Amino acid sequence: MTCVVVMGGSLGGLTAALTLRDIGCEVTVYERSPGPLVGQGAGIVLNPATVRYFTTRPGFDLDSVSMAPHWVRYMDQTGGTVHEAPCPYRFSSYNALYRGLLDCFEAERYHLGAAVIGFDQDNDGVNVQLAGGRRDRCDLLVCADGIRSTARRLLLPELALAYAGYIAWRGTVSPAELDPQIYATLHRAVTYHIRSDGHLLVYPIPVVDQAPGATTPQLHLNWLWYRNVAPGPALDELMTDRAGVARDLSLPPGMVQEGHLAQMRADAVRLPPPLAEIIHSTAQPFIQVIVDLEPPQMAFGRVCLIGDAAFVARPHAAAGTAKAAEDAWTLSTAVAEAGGDVIAALRRWEPGQLQLGQRLVARTRETGRRFQFESTWHEGAPLPFGLYEVGDSAMPG
Ligand SMILES: Cc1cc2nc3c(=O)[nH]c(=O)nc-3n(C[C@H](O)[C@H](O)[C@H](O)COP(=O)(O)OP(=O)(O)OC[C@H]3O[C@@H](n4cnc5c(N)ncnc54)[C@H](O)[C@@H]3O)c2cc1C
Repeated sequence: MTCVVVMGGSLGGLTAALTLRDIGCEVTVYERSPGPLVGQGAGIVLNPATVRYFTTRPGFDLDSVSMAPHWVRYMDQTGGTVHEAPCPYRFSSYNALYRGLLDCFEAERYHLGAAVIGFDQDNDGVNVQLAGGRRDRCDLLVCADGIRSTARRLLLPELALAYAGYIAWRGTVSPAELDPQIYATLHRAVTYHIRSDGHLLVYPIPVVDQAPGATTPQLHLNWLWYRNVAPGPALDELMTDRAGVARDLSLPPGMVQEGHLAQMRADAVRLPPPLAEIIHSTAQPFIQVIVDLEPPQMAFGRVCLIGDAAFVARPHAAAGTAKAAEDAWTLSTAVAEAGGDVIAALRRWEPGQLQLGQRLVARTRETGRRFQFESTWHEGAPLPFGLYEVGDSAMPG
């Protein structure tokens, strides 16, 4: 039996653990977080790959983990609709997907508070070192440890995240925080607004597990305002938190300096009224720095990188979770087909996943350039959501 260790127990790691377990591997997951993971509240656009683990089970109801907005809309400067089409996409929340996957995996094989700090391999297996001195040994180590991957740093020390030249101001508001008329306008649609120097979008996210016993997820509105910020002093100053600490990838709610918040809110006055209102109604906007990353390799003998530990794509395609799931599904297929020869499996698996990642990164770079710098994204253009190609995130039904 093939013995597998998965480093990182989020969506990519859990999908790998489950699909490898299902083909007969003995799988152990080590997750660094001391407690079960909790979503950042950003929402997740479904793709068939994201929910394949659920949809291949009989009787599964997509409505139990996601919701379907009615419309894709482009909004003009006055707040009017310039283009509207039926929305083929569904939105979910991190918590719904994580809990669903976690429930399918053996609790005694999912170790929280277990950070992998190193590994080395020989001809027969991989030695895995955990914080605190614990060790494990396996035939295959799957590294699904996310955007700040320790495994990637150990395997590809020269590789660094590349700044895209823009950041996203973000926020989430509940119906109670927003003017009811504006909530009614926005909550059944994915709304884009294109400006000469960037773009905004607003979409509903199902918030699960809010009130104990609640069965229907409440719909919150999530917004992103992509703004260009030159690398160097301007970015460094913006990303210095209230305590004076320089942050690299994000500034969480409550940590953005008051002066930057005030400036962003003042700038928002120039936006279409519903978008200005939603931004002004957000108590604690936060910042995500837009980066990407293209590794030259995902397979290293008996060790592989999957999900955000491998490629990081800009968020425009809304495909990060789908890519992590796809890496996992294709990996388990390759392991099954190689009949226990892990090294051969990874060799066969790698080219397709490299190609997928490269294409996704290239597509999202092009999308970002058109939205943020060239102003060539046309109102009414199909949304850039998709894993292999634009549109493949559409969900049946
Ligand atoms: C807690 C959490 C909440 C998120 N919420 C959202 C959201 O609301 N919307 C959205 O679009 N995306 C969200 N994401 C990101 C999203 O899950 C990923 O971008 C995407 O699904 C790819 O998943 P991944 O498994 O490759 O990486 P990630 O989801 O980033 O998971 C990486 C995991 O590895 C663990 N880890 C890191 N280092 C080690 C180590 N040394 N040893 C063991 N474990 C380690 C991390 O704790 C983390 O759980 C969230 C991620 C996390 C971790």
